[in-house]
Amino acid sequence: MAEQSQKGPSLKEQFWDPVAGFGVTFRTMFRKVVTEQYPKEKFPTAPRFHGRHQLNRWPDGLEKCVGCELCAWACPADAIYVEGAQNDDTPDADGNSQRYSAGERYGRVYQINYLRCILCGLCIEACPTRALTMTNEYELADDNRADLIYEKSDLLAPLLPGMEQPPHPQRLGDETAYYRGENAATPVDAGDRPAASVAAQAPSQEETA
Ligand code: SF4
Ligand code: SF4
Repeated sequence: MAEQSQKGPSLKEQFWDPVAGFGVTFRTMFRKVVTEQYPKEKFPTAPRFHGRHQLNRWPDGLEKCVGCELCAWACPADAIYVEGAQNDDTPDADGNSQRYSAGERYGRVYQINYLRCILCGLCIEACPTRALTMTNEYELADDNRADLIYEKSDLLAPLLPGMEQPPHPQRLGDETAYYRGENAATPVDAGDRPAASVAAQAPSQEETA
């Protein structure tokens, strides 16, 4: 043993081994670069990627959510909070309708806590009206906890042309017409646009979710 240590390292150990150690580095230098330049360049996600939720609307702008809380019950992370309330067709003091959705009830309070959500999608499977879907939006980071609790106003789909901000009366017929997609040709309002044309101009936003 003492004789071997006095001989010192062999030629191979002196010259070849240090170079061989860089073998992976040299090979990789000539490969195609796969580093993504995020956030300067954003690549599209897979079409069915589970990103931020969206609360969809009917073609006249009424909300699809009926405040049933099934999504909240389905959530394994207890990330959803819903408070339902009764729609009311009685005009308020200003003569305006107090209806927010097609049907008896609507989601008066709707929150998703993205500090808890694991984007599993069980809530959207549970939703009976397809009110809740998920978009491809994945940039959900923030620098404080409060802003990661999304309110209904953060989650509601934007109003498309032809849609009207609730509260307002059912423009597309009775409740059955909404859920069967019949969109009976009742007048939209004092204007001259029939409900059927509203439906044609503004398809349901769940298709984009
Ligand atoms: S995606 Fe999953 S964890 Fe997130 S709110 Fe829906 S059910 Fe809950
Ligand atoms: S999003 Fe769907 S499941 Fe959740 S409360 Fe509204 S209607 Fe019910």
